[in-house]
Amino acid sequence: MPQKHKVSLIPGDGIGPEVTLATQKIIDATGVNIEWEICEAGAKVFKKGLGTGVPRETVDSIIRNKVALKGPLETPVGFGEKSANVTLRKMFDTYGNIRPISEFAGINTPYSGRGIDIVIVRENVEDLYAGIEHMQSPGVAQCLKLISRKGCEKIIRLAFEFARSEGRKMVHCATKANIMKATEGLMKRTFEEIAKEYPDIESHHIIVDNCAHQMVKKPEQFDVIVTTNMNGDILSDLGSALIGGLGFAPGANIGDQFSIFEAVHGSAPKYAGKNVINPTAVLLSGVMMLRHLGEFEAAKLIDNALLTTLAADKVLTRDIVGDTGAASTTQYTDAIIGNLGKMYSEYKDRNYHPIKMPHIRQDQDFVRVSKRGVNGIDLFIETDKPVVQFAKELELAAANSTMKLKMISSRGVRVYPAEQGATPDLTDSFSCRFVSKEIHTDVKDADIIHLLQKVEPHVRWSHIEKLNEFDGVAGYSKSHGED
Ligand code: NAD
Repeated sequence: MPQKHKVSLIPGDGIGPEVTLATQKIIDATGVNIEWEICEAGAKVFKKGLGTGVPRETVDSIIRNKVALKGPLETPVGFGEKSANVTLRKMFDTYGNIRPISEFAGINTPYSGRGIDIVIVRENVEDLYAGIEHMQSPGVAQCLKLISRKGCEKIIRLAFEFARSEGRKMVHCATKANIMKATEGLMKRTFEEIAKEYPDIESHHIIVDNCAHQMVKKPEQFDVIVTTNMNGDILSDLGSALIGGLGFAPGANIGDQFSIFEAVHGSAPKYAGKNVINPTAVLLSGVMMLRHLGEFEAAKLIDNALLTTLAADKVLTRDIVGDTGAASTTQYTDAIIGNLGKMYSEYKDRNYHPIKMPHIRQDQDFVRVSKRGVNGIDLFIETDKPVVQFAKELELAAANSTMKLKMISSRGVRVYPAEQGATPDLTDSFSCRFVSKEIHTDVKDADIIHLLQKVEPHVRWSHIEKLNEFDGVAGYSKSHGED
């Protein structure tokens, strides 16, 4: 008897039910023993008034089964605050989003024949997608980009382990570390350290904008690319366009305990119920799920049946051939089922192995230091007064404080003391850097509270950031023009 698996199946919204049904039929036809537990999430759930879009029964099903296959979910305008997709990723801590981008025989693109075979390993729970946003003033918005050393270690180790599981030989890390030295730089530094533990795999850092450029110019040079959440989102959509579009871009959300498999694409509402869309992306997500479940033979059967259908039989959906001669979703599904058991001559067998999930220390204080201090604060304020006027007021307000005003910046550019050159176009939001009057003297919380009380009559303040120093290294950036 084949091993029995239980999988939570979320059909989802728009084209979701069609693509997940096609996938379920093809997987079942391979003979693997899967009991599918059908679960709700997305638009219908939001409309019933549940703000998360994910009902308790669905959460319980995934907790029980540990594995889910999911169609795309919509966040209908006017219902719910957060995306149900992001909620699921966070709720099940699926910190790694693996997105393969490979050329398919039979799908003609400007890149055909170049052998594109890239996997983007995207960090899935941190970065700007934590969605921590605040209005600094009525006209200035802020989004917090949180990156942790622990999160970096997890995703980078996962990328290397994934590369090993597929016999891949090279990992690039794509960041914007040249600009965001603390956040993106943490990813780069962690990558460079951890890469040394994987001497069998070539490793390179690449600036993310150059990575996008190189992916268009010479995509075949890449193997695995590990990157932060937003970079990965953009690079993987770019990548899918190189190989025939979103209809061919699968994905897996992987965590220590739970895995959710889903396509990169969304619910494409205008094609819903028309039996015209391409189910390949969700099918290939299902193939990734089969490998995750250890069903390597069934995965290989589907890969070969798919390639035979595309390249030998030339059965293609509307997104590839347009209206004339296109196979419907159901005809395409039946053709793949009919080809199960046929091997495609150019199939590249990767000798897949299960991914060895990295074990990372669970400690909350993942990075410990022996010495720490606070050199001052950045005080974020709102005012429409001229800079020199409120700067003088703040200097006077700080006269009896342990801190002095060092400088004021507007969106990262120093405006006081004034820089030479063009005056930046100002908003009503400023960051005022106060530092300790005595070098090497720690600023205490009581000093900060005292300063805030003195400042309050002159400007509105929205928040402060402490200027932390850890083991003698400043934990904050300098503004453009700051010495
Ligand atoms: P989309 O991916 O749904 O569709 C964009 C276009 O891509 C479609 O109009 C269609 O031309 C093409 N396309 C996508 N999937 C296809 C397929 N399987 N076969 C053929 N063509 C396909 O993107 P969108 O229109 O920006 O988003 C629609 C909804 O989906 C939104 O509510 C969005 O929030 C949601 N969404 C969900 C997910 C997810 O569940 N993971 C991801 C992205 C978007």
